Amino acid sequence: MKAITLHGTGDVRVESVPDARVIDPTDVVVRVTTSAVCGSDLHQYHGRVPGMDPGVVMGHEFMGIVEEVGPRVTQVRKGDRVIAPFSISCGFCEWCRMRLPTQCTTTGRAVFGGRSGKKYPGGQAEAVRVPFADFMCEKVPAGMRDEEVFFLGDILSTGYVCAENAGIRPGDSVAIFGAGPVGLLALQSAHLFGASRIFVVDRVDYRLELAEELGGTPVSLDRGDPAEQLRSLTGGRGPDAVLECVGHEVPFAQAIQAVRAGGTVSSVGVYVESSIGFPAREAFFKDLTLKMGICNARNFIVPLMPLIQTGKLQPTRIITHTMPLADAPRGYAIFDKKEDRAIKVMLKP
Ligand code: NAD
Ligand code: ZN
Repeated sequence: MKAITLHGTGDVRVESVPDARVIDPTDVVVRVTTSAVCGSDLHQYHGRVPGMDPGVVMGHEFMGIVEEVGPRVTQVRKGDRVIAPFSISCGFCEWCRMRLPTQCTTTGRAVFGGRSGKKYPGGQAEAVRVPFADFMCEKVPAGMRDEEVFFLGDILSTGYVCAENAGIRPGDSVAIFGAGPVGLLALQSAHLFGASRIFVVDRVDYRLELAEELGGTPVSLDRGDPAEQLRSLTGGRGPDAVLECVGHEVPFAQAIQAVRAGGTVSSVGVYVESSIGFPAREAFFKDLTLKMGICNARNFIVPLMPLIQTGKLQPTRIITHTMPLADAPRGYAIFDKKEDRAIKVMLKP
């Protein structure tokens, strides 16, 4: 089958790889109908993730139709249309039972196409093996298009949890660092919690334009220090909650500098470095709350679905490109370089 493989920095290729197949009796094989390129793939693409095996099949955002079913799978049938979360978990270990499936000890915190724990090929492919299918697969309601349901497996759940973790209360002012796919979905989610004003910080004009269309107030990094800009936009005090959706040291520090005293910083950006600098003294004297981490997307697929069905969340708004899987190298390049007004690049095998 055809798949997208990573060979080095900036080097993704369309290659023939062994067909996905059932290996463990609790696996299914999903024929992929839609996959996508994620900001987390870019960390690997930039060579920032040590320990990646050359030729690894990329991608942790995918959905499709079940094609083959292992003998011990009871809840999923051939022909079911399913979505799965980006991290792979068993559903029965101590952590999974504590609703922290990203900490799964059975898989070693594995992610499709990732480097940690057990290695599983990714979903930027014609087909993908989904382990622990009874726990991992969620059936998609008939009548929902792939694009509507797709982002629940990763970035919509991540944007939502970023807003939820920020403890936003009705009337709060909120700032979001990053107008990429995650930041824009965090913006949609922040509205649900009743934020009065939502500032969105980035430097990419066309992404800030969409943030504005989605009800955000753009704050351009080109206009100077974002923490200063945010303070002056909030009467000198700083936003009540700051959402970090970039995954670098600089915006993380800026988020801490921007938030008001006693406010909350919620960070979902992935830090691939083992440690980063951190304005600890400022955080301490501000008495702030910090919440960060990977998204347990499995927990959000079902509860967020009705918000899409009723139009309260409109994840399809961020899609700018839909291309054949074979064009993925170009998809990675434009998403990475912010060319051709790329925000979210979808891939169709
Ligand atoms: P992206 O790279 O498209 O978006 C990042 C945006 O941040 C870009 O638009 C960029 O211009 C902007 N940016 C860069 N520096 C900035 C700064 N100093 N201030 C403000 N904006 C700045 O990626 P994405 O798909 O939106 O993903 C964003 C982050 O979320 C990535 O780190 C990704 O790994 C992470 N992520 C985390 C989870 C999770 O489970 N926690 C899940 C999915 C993605
Ligand atoms: Zn992702």
